[in-house]
Amino acid sequence: MSTESTAITHYDVVVIGGGIAGIAIAELLARQTTLRVKVLEQTEKLGQGASSKLEGWFHTGGLYSGVEDPQTFMNCVNALEDLINLYSAHFAPNCNFRLKERAPGVFVPGVVSHENGWFEEQPILYLLPGEGSPDVSRSKLRSESVLWKLQRQRVLSRLESVYGGKHNWLVAGRCAAPDPDWIEKNQETTGILLEPTSSLDEFCRRHDQCHGAGPSSYDVVRSNDVPMDPARIMRDLVASAMAHSADFETSVSLDTFGIDTKTGKVGSLRYRNRYGNYFHVRARLFIFAVGSGFEELASLLAVKPSVKVIKSYMVVAYPALTTLSFVRMSPKVSFHFNHLCVTGRGTKGQTEYSMLGDSGFGAQEAATVEFIGGTDALIDLAKGYFGVDAMQSRHLFAYECLKTEFIGKSEEERRYSYWVESSEVPGCLFVLPGKFSFFPTVALQTYKKVKEHLKLHDTDERPTDRQPWRHQADDQIKAAATEFVADHYPYRLLLPVIKR
Ligand SMILES: Cc1cc2nc3c(=O)[nH]c(=O)nc-3n(C[C@H](O)[C@H](O)[C@H](O)COP(=O)(O)OP(=O)(O)OC[C@H]3O[C@@H](n4cnc5c(N)ncnc54)[C@H](O)[C@@H]3O)c2cc1C
Repeated sequence: MSTESTAITHYDVVVIGGGIAGIAIAELLARQTTLRVKVLEQTEKLGQGASSKLEGWFHTGGLYSGVEDPQTFMNCVNALEDLINLYSAHFAPNCNFRLKERAPGVFVPGVVSHENGWFEEQPILYLLPGEGSPDVSRSKLRSESVLWKLQRQRVLSRLESVYGGKHNWLVAGRCAAPDPDWIEKNQETTGILLEPTSSLDEFCRRHDQCHGAGPSSYDVVRSNDVPMDPARIMRDLVASAMAHSADFETSVSLDTFGIDTKTGKVGSLRYRNRYGNYFHVRARLFIFAVGSGFEELASLLAVKPSVKVIKSYMVVAYPALTTLSFVRMSPKVSFHFNHLCVTGRGTKGQTEYSMLGDSGFGAQEAATVEFIGGTDALIDLAKGYFGVDAMQSRHLFAYECLKTEFIGKSEEERRYSYWVESSEVPGCLFVLPGKFSFFPTVALQTYKKVKEHLKLHDTDERPTDRQPWRHQADDQIKAAATEFVADHYPYRLLLPVIKR
């Protein structure tokens, strides 16, 4: 029989949704303020939704560098700046993106190898097809090949401006990304990011052959993108949030919101816990970071979510097909392809597997392909690179997942932007990260909005009684955080076949 608790617990901020967005917001608020923060998650574990089903690609801009509108590219670049300023020191050594000296006195972001690092050191390589490649030669339209040349030039010049050592990211002791206008003006390229000899040659030859073409020319660009370990990132964030007194509760279901009839402000929430008992929480601010759950939320709160939910799919191959991670940027949607070698960690130890995806840069239609057809196409493309035998000797798994995208007022805003909105319902913020990789920016921008909403004073913002490293030193907290956060979903799929 369920019971109703008469006690009403007060918090400053209640975060609904324990994916990367909710976790990162709670962590930054708990770490940087004295606010009392609680996270409520409906599933048994934190990060069990899109934040564990994702591919594991930390985006620093490469995939969007060829798109005319630089917004998504800049979102990625700025997220890297926020990551280094807000996380690298606090989560050292695990947050292993740092500023590295590329030339005397010139610093650019890069990964420092570390066995428990959030990020892999080996970069994701970008394959740019050139003369004679089947995807370019099949474009009969001259306009298409002109467009591709333009895109290619943009990829090379933007990436070189930002990561090639032209901009010094170390400014007055802080990490500072270059200015977008400066990047756009910097069209000169020296080819410094091009791989002199391509480790992808063998795959490219096989791919060409498979499409009835002779060996064609390719450029391979070393990006700053890397595979990441999303579960480890979330675990460290949860440990830090707990060490700074944030509260997490999972397996809850929302019941009713208490809304002030005069102002429309949301002030309280009645929810059911995992045992079916009801509880009340009051909060000065509710933050909704529910991913694909915004539609459902509309039945409890009068909100019209600015969120589009798209079905997407991934293929996992085990053991990994190669340790190289690469993405083909192609003028043809049907040639979009990427392979990431990801290291998963969990109860069966550490293991590497391949994530196969449709890169879909700047193309909306790629994501809407039906599941089976889309998955088959992906496997066929992979056979082209790795060969039929390699694919047949692997355990293959496919799964569907929901991608969430913010719908802005204009078309440009839609491209993987993050979304932090406060106007719709008083007492609430709505947040969508757009990408896992944007979590540092999402946490920072939400923190700024919270400061505005709650009119924070300096004393609220300067916790004095904290132990900054407790999340790393306290074994109980570390164990609780590990238990609380779901493993990478592909790792869970592989559990029956992982060899110890
Ligand atoms: C196939 C695929 C591959 C991707 N690959 C990448 C990648 O490689 N790199 C990258 O940066 N991004 C990637 N993304 C995007 C990334 O996964 C998402 O942008 C990000 O994880 C979304 O985080 P979130 O916290 O908003 O959502 P979620 O992780 O889904 O979290 C939302 C949480 O809210 C909870 N919730 C919902 N409703 C309620 C409710 N009523 N009460 C309580 N809790 C509720 C859910 O259970 C869930 O845990 C990928 C996405 C997909 C689908």
